[in-house]
Amino acid sequence: MTAPAAKPARSAALDQIDTDAPLFDPKAFRLTGEQAAIMTRARHLGQTVFAGRAAAYDRDARFPVENYKDLHKAGLLGIAIPKALGGLGADYQTYALTAAEIGRYCGATALTWNMHVCSTLWSGPLADDLEMDDATRAEHARRRAIHYKRIIDDGAIYSQPFSEGGAAAAGGVAFGTEAKPVQGGWIVNGKKIFASLSGHADYYGVLCTELAEGEKASRRNTLYLAIPAKADGVSVVGDWDPLGMRGTVSRTLIFKDVFVPEDGALMPRGVYFKAASSWPHMFLTLSPTYIGLAQAAYDFTVRYLRGEVPGMPPVKRRMYPTKQIAVAQMHIKLEQTKAIWFQAVTEACANPTKAQVLRAYAAQYSAMEGANELATLAIRTCGGQAMLKSLPLERIYRDSRCGSLMLPWTAELCLDRIGREALYEPGESDE
Ligand SMILES: Cc1cc2nc3c(=O)[nH]c(=O)nc-3n(C[C@H](O)[C@H](O)[C@H](O)COP(=O)(O)OP(=O)(O)OC[C@H]3O[C@@H](n4cnc5c(N)ncnc54)[C@H](O)[C@@H]3O)c2cc1C
Repeated sequence: MTAPAAKPARSAALDQIDTDAPLFDPKAFRLTGEQAAIMTRARHLGQTVFAGRAAAYDRDARFPVENYKDLHKAGLLGIAIPKALGGLGADYQTYALTAAEIGRYCGATALTWNMHVCSTLWSGPLADDLEMDDATRAEHARRRAIHYKRIIDDGAIYSQPFSEGGAAAAGGVAFGTEAKPVQGGWIVNGKKIFASLSGHADYYGVLCTELAEGEKASRRNTLYLAIPAKADGVSVVGDWDPLGMRGTVSRTLIFKDVFVPEDGALMPRGVYFKAASSWPHMFLTLSPTYIGLAQAAYDFTVRYLRGEVPGMPPVKRRMYPTKQIAVAQMHIKLEQTKAIWFQAVTEACANPTKAQVLRAYAAQYSAMEGANELATLAIRTCGGQAMLKSLPLERIYRDSRCGSLMLPWTAELCLDRIGREALYEPGESDE
């Protein structure tokens, strides 16, 4: 009798998995070998590990703690941190393409990872792109090194709670969360809603208005402070039981007389306002997740119609002409969405032209609405069995519905701005 073959070691088993093709083929999209390597690292982790955990995080509305440990191990928490400080030194485009790969497998992980990475993009490549006097730059370099060390060495997680329920996150008025300057730092009071990663981030990267006694609130005085989750006066309140993106755990944060030391500043005074005004593409950073979801809806449909979804009977449905036409429509929609989005994230820069900004709005709209349109078509085309909770499509559908609601570039605000800015040059009015 021959002995049964030994079970392959886990890593060998993972190596045998036929990984999905890259969302953006490095050769076709003229990406560097270094970019391709980072994207492959994320795609492999997403497909072999995150995809299998996504249903449970969604069902329980539970934060993907285990995924964050893996992101840390893979060096991806420091993706945008300069290489000299221990990170992967990725630029904006590399980050966006990598985030899209993660979004294919777990929307909530990709969306929350975006909040974390943006803390390092604002304070890293963007801050480097802005004018600062030598003393301010030196001080910023010293402070950000403290934040980056926590991320690289300890796996510290940063979040980005900007929303307050009013016009501030839409860019209309000053933030209602206030930072009063005191000896050695600030005292912060306020409230942030929809604070993804609440209860799980180690630092909340809060936008607030610096306001000395008797001063009037101004958006120019926006401060970007990393508030330790364990600081006295910080609390997480409310529940979290939403339609989609359930693993983001976006509860409400309250800050009551929280002392934040000067080194908590993620950007020097006045710099966030300048960065937000001159780098509008930063507000496109929520979209990669949804590009990943759009691809996931399409990939699922093709597999399902070919009878190749793991765990499902190998029933083929691809021979029906109506299904073929639906797949063709999905393919065209996906290619259009990816094309405009790739162009927008590739040309992101300081002080873009009006045409580039309009294209960025159009890319955001296309990604956010397109992902949900593709998921809707996928459900109609695959049919009833495909929307059972045992399969990922219904989660992709629910997650994809959330993209258009994200301020400051909601689908509605993108339409408003494109319409107005296409028809009016600065200073023009019909009133
Ligand atoms: C899953 C998920 C995760 C999220 N995570 C985060 C996070 O980590 N950090 C974060 O900061 N936010 C996060 N958000 C919040 C998100 O960015 C929005 O702020 C939130 O969805 C707005 O909800 P609302 O009902 O207050 O929106 P709305 O009431 O639609 O908007 C709020 C205000 O914006 C202005 N506004 C809205 N639409 C228009 C318009 N068409 N024209 C002019 N003004 C307008 C108005 O003043 C309005 O009162 C998350 C949202 C979701 C769904």
